[in-house]
Amino acid sequence: MGRAFLYVILGGGVAAGYAALEFTKRGISHGELCIISEEPVPPYERPALSKGFLLPEAPARLPSFHTCVGANEERLTPKWYKEHGIELVLGSRVKSVDVRRKTLLTGSGETISYKVLIIATGARALKLEEFGVKGSDSENVCYLRDLADANRLVNLMESCSGGNAVVIGGGYIGMECAASLVINRMSVTMVFPEEHCMARLFTPKIASFYEEFYKSKGVKFVKGTILSSFDIDSNGKVTAVNLRDGSSLPADTVVVGIGIRPNTSLFEGQLTLEKGGIKVNGKMQSSNSSVYAVGDVATFPVKVFGESRRLEHVDSARKSARHAVGAIMEQNQAGEFDYLPFFYSRVFTLSWQFYGDNAGDVVHFGDFSGGTFGAYWVRNGHLVGSFLEGGTKEEYEAIAKATRLKPAVEDLAELERQGLVFAVTV
Ligand code: FAD
Repeated sequence: MGRAFLYVILGGGVAAGYAALEFTKRGISHGELCIISEEPVPPYERPALSKGFLLPEAPARLPSFHTCVGANEERLTPKWYKEHGIELVLGSRVKSVDVRRKTLLTGSGETISYKVLIIATGARALKLEEFGVKGSDSENVCYLRDLADANRLVNLMESCSGGNAVVIGGGYIGMECAASLVINRMSVTMVFPEEHCMARLFTPKIASFYEEFYKSKGVKFVKGTILSSFDIDSNGKVTAVNLRDGSSLPADTVVVGIGIRPNTSLFEGQLTLEKGGIKVNGKMQSSNSSVYAVGDVATFPVKVFGESRRLEHVDSARKSARHAVGAIMEQNQAGEFDYLPFFYSRVFTLSWQFYGDNAGDVVHFGDFSGGTFGAYWVRNGHLVGSFLEGGTKEEYEAIAKATRLKPAVEDLAELERQGLVFAVTV
């Protein structure tokens, strides 16, 4: 015999925190909701781990970045969950789930049953071993997905200040970590196989701006090659990173950001999976009507793409969680989740936002020498995506609105000439 709850959220990350707040806004009774998380702390704003958390001066620490501060909402501390009668089962990994019986089995052997389950298990960092390279468990090799990883990175930066850091991967984790390592006075080299950084989103022109900026801060780039092995000393520490192109980089710290894999394994064979995630409809409901999935783990219909996709962004985690709770509480009378993809990053003094889809013809605009600049993507004669660096709050709102409205664009040269004015006057 175990405990029974009306609602259970499996996973205690960003989506779980926003779902909990939405449940309380809509009115639940004490004892109805339980959150089970492998992490030892209640939900927090994960993006802080590669930003404020890594600052050498006045770094962000819990409880300051518990959800839902990222959306300027109430900050949900352990006390908040207690006051709202929400059961937090922390530091507890769920070992198995039976969606037919509506039960979960925790690592400590407890069976917890639910009427409605929200899967918010997020994703895990891909390991080098999955690409045939050994050495992930070396004490100076670091990934960055959770608080424990971030603490390790902070300790590593303190212990080898002034030393060499190699960042493997040119996505946003790599870019944000590289900036933090520089700020912590390390000598940084980034290694990635693509021709430029942030290859899934940036155009070569946009990437070139950031790479030049990073170079001005002392970051070196080794592009078009990958890690092939580590040199490891007798203490088990990596001393050098060997690359496929035959070169070798000395290393005191290695940070690896080579992508993520959604945590779906508990549901394989029980729920329909698609594109690596749990397939859900516009109400975030899975192939089992009592089970919803939100955040990084969910593959949901996205209008601007015209198909279902999985998104790995904090805004999508927040909003999909709220939408699922709305759908659950309104017994599926709620509308479909109509989500405009939004992604952002902040590095050094720079800050950018992106909305929509980066497909079709691209038009750049603005001052690429260090001012405000951006890009639009136009597909089938309509604006489908917008990127902006260095904008004001109003300008970011304008590109978001314009992208949502999908205005017709007849003349790309005219769009380029108008630049930001186009979005502001749509
Ligand atoms: P998560 O927040 O990952 O939460 C999943 C939770 O489930 C975790 O607590 C995990 O321990 C738990 N869990 C998993 N399996 C089990 C199990 N079997 N039993 C119990 N618990 C389990 N996005 C942006 O848009 N902009 C950014 O600048 C940005 N920066 C980021 C920086 C970092 C360092 C990282 C790691 C991510 C960043 N992201 C950013 C992405 C964003 O944080 C994620 O999209 C978001 O956290 C997804 O929320 P989630 O709730 O789906 O998953």
